[in-house]
Amino acid sequence: MTAAPPEPTVCSARGCQAPAVWDLRWNNPKIHTPDRRKHWLACDEHRPTLTSFLSARGFLRETEPVGADDPLDDAT
Ligand SMILES: [Zn+2]
Repeated sequence: MTAAPPEPTVCSARGCQAPAVWDLRWNNPKIHTPDRRKHWLACDEHRPTLTSFLSARGFLRETEPVGADDPLDDAT
C-alpha cells in the first residue's frame, strides 16, 4: 500500500497554524456549479472571521466539523 499519511489540517486564516476544527464549505455561483464545494478550514478562533467573510459574499453553504464525510471533497 502506498497510502500517504493524512494531511495536517491547519486553519486557513492567514498566518494561523492552529489545528482546524471547522470545515467551511462554500461555493461561488459565478464560477462554480451549484454542487461544487470549496473548503476553508478554521480553528475556533478564526471560524467567525472566515464565516463572516464568506457570508457577506453569499458564498457560505455549510459549516461542518473537520473530518465529516464529503464525497465532493475539493480542498483549495
Ligand atoms: Zn485560526
